[in-house]
Amino acid sequence: MSTIAEIFGTMVFDDKEMKARLPEDIYNSIQNTIKNGKHLDLAVANVVAKAMMEWAIEKGATHYTHWFQPMTGVTAEKHDSFISPQGTGVIMEFRGKELVRGEPDASSFPSGGLRATFEARGYTAWDPTSYAFIKDETLCIPTAFCSYGGEALDKKTPLLRSMEVLGKATMKILKLFGNESVTSVRTTVGAEQEYFLIDKEVFDKRPDLVYTGRTLFGARPPKGQELDDHYFGSIKTRVLAYMKELDKELWKLGVLAKTEHNEAAPGQHELAPVFTTTNLATDHNQLTMELMQKIAKKHGLVCLLHEKPFEGVSGSGKHNNWSLSTNTGVNLLEPGETPYENAQFLLFLSAVIKAVDDYQDALRISVASAGNDHRLGASEAPPAIVSIFLGDELAAVLDAIENGSRYDAKEKENMRVGVHILPKFPKDTTDRNRTSPFAFTGNKFEFRMVGSSDSIADTNTVINTAVTQVLNEFYEVLSSAEDFTSALHNLVRDTIKAHKRILFNGNGYDKSWATEAKKRGLSNLETTPDAIPHLLDEKNIRLFVDNKVFSEKELRARCEIQLEAYSKLVNIEALTAVDMANQLILPAVSKYTKELTKTIELKAGLGINADYERQVASKLSILNASAYERTKELEVEISAVKELKGAERIAKAYAKRILVKMAELRKIVDEMESITAKEYWPIPSYGEMLFSV
Ligand code: ADP
Ligand code: MG
Repeated sequence: MSTIAEIFGTMVFDDKEMKARLPEDIYNSIQNTIKNGKHLDLAVANVVAKAMMEWAIEKGATHYTHWFQPMTGVTAEKHDSFISPQGTGVIMEFRGKELVRGEPDASSFPSGGLRATFEARGYTAWDPTSYAFIKDETLCIPTAFCSYGGEALDKKTPLLRSMEVLGKATMKILKLFGNESVTSVRTTVGAEQEYFLIDKEVFDKRPDLVYTGRTLFGARPPKGQELDDHYFGSIKTRVLAYMKELDKELWKLGVLAKTEHNEAAPGQHELAPVFTTTNLATDHNQLTMELMQKIAKKHGLVCLLHEKPFEGVSGSGKHNNWSLSTNTGVNLLEPGETPYENAQFLLFLSAVIKAVDDYQDALRISVASAGNDHRLGASEAPPAIVSIFLGDELAAVLDAIENGSRYDAKEKENMRVGVHILPKFPKDTTDRNRTSPFAFTGNKFEFRMVGSSDSIADTNTVINTAVTQVLNEFYEVLSSAEDFTSALHNLVRDTIKAHKRILFNGNGYDKSWATEAKKRGLSNLETTPDAIPHLLDEKNIRLFVDNKVFSEKELRARCEIQLEAYSKLVNIEALTAVDMANQLILPAVSKYTKELTKTIELKAGLGINADYERQVASKLSILNASAYERTKELEVEISAVKELKGAERIAKAYAKRILVKMAELRKIVDEMESITAKEYWPIPSYGEMLFSV
């Protein structure tokens, strides 16, 4: 068994490999591209490509692929072999041209009308800021995916754009604080990933899980998560073996998988990585999700990444821990030691507060999906309302700044930004509120609305862009100020005053919060079709277009793609529900009823009491007839919705008509399940699934 240090990053063409394998001038030149975004020469690319190929072949690779993140939310690859014919044989070849640019057929990826089929070819362009790696004996080259018109067709391009503008905006602010040593700023992210594991044999017997990733039917088991005995409980042997292999494979790919533990629901687990630069964190999270699923199969398990596979127990999310970090290693969201450092911290803190308040809808949209709609607002998840938790201590400091009062009774003077030092906050007290969607956790913000199957690219694109916008606004105010410290104090104070409605330290799961939030004027976009169209609100178009993260055309395309994806998904769910009802559930209940009626007949002949059989048979007959009616209605609705025009109208119809009908059907089916003999029920129960491992 090799040590972690020995296997870590062995499948990554990282800085160490580049340094060892590239001539010095080429290495410097590629570093210049990675660090400063300098254009990459084809001559340099040729040398890099050759070194990369040689490295990959040594590691057993035979193929290469441009690895990209289209708007389907999963990653895509098209494999080519290194083989190139020469004379009567072949040589292994990989040229700079093939490294920097690829041309997958873009017509099979969603583009929201950005790319008519006659101009179907999109292209992929190497993102040298993300290291190449080997997966499945294939050299994977992380790339951005664009149309020939240059429009982004993926999730990576806007993310990279947002990181760049945020870096610039932050640098300008740091300069105002007299900071000359920092040369670049990056956003850092650690994405904690939740997931369920169930036994593969049980999974295979549930068409709903197979086709949609979530259960469309299922009566509540007698034991759920009410005992809280699963959270951080001891990990079962089979799961442990899975986690060990997963960690090992992730480490080889340079993914900093750090902690693995059980989550709240039975069968639910979490993997947390050490944070890294946002685009790497995004790549790594995609790889994590992919490997989680692949490795599960090897252990006879299935990994469910759906946000709400089971009703009545916790759903799965992805906590997006976000911060800003300088190249000198300073976390800009870490309260400092001196009044000056604290002034800077408070400025960034207020910028995030304002950004989250101004663009709450955009943030909510970034996590909108059919799956997440079932999770947000259900058990153990924040509602679709964005709010910020700061913790009592920090909230008290902001109060004192806002009201020009003392932070506590012992203080002699009123709290002033840039003059006073912040009290020390014990780290654990800032992490108490697990119900807040956007929580300050001591030196970073944790956004908890992201769904477990989401790419974290969208969310980070929105956070980065919104904070960029606000920092640029702050820069305008501060750069023209005569007295910097006073201007700063006033800016922080005014920002808190104007945006404190977004601050909420209470229980986000409590029903009364929705009422309170409404009073405060916070947005509550409950479903995906409610949320997505707001991406095109003038304010949001301005945000993305002015900061050059999306063009208006790209935004419109994304809106369309997300609505269509939603409709397609719900459509598949509805069809699956209809099939399961018609082919499995209704016939099973009928068969059981027949068994009961036969018993009733027999008993009648013998003069024995048959009350139980009579009552159940009668109840089931009524319920089954009613379930059949609902199924037919659902089918009618599915056809009716198909006739509608317009992505938004269709998506809204799926939410308001189809999902409602599905829920009605489910209610009856679940009731039948609870009184049908187990041996007759055609699919595994909740208990069998949740406690299958
Ligand atoms: P927990 O939330 O379980 O208490 P931590 O607070 O240690 O655990 O970290 C949670 C996640 O936040 C981890 O993935 C960690 O890498 C990440 N994280 C920690 N610091 C930062 C940071 N400065 N920027 C981004 N993510 C961070
Ligand atoms: Mg967390």
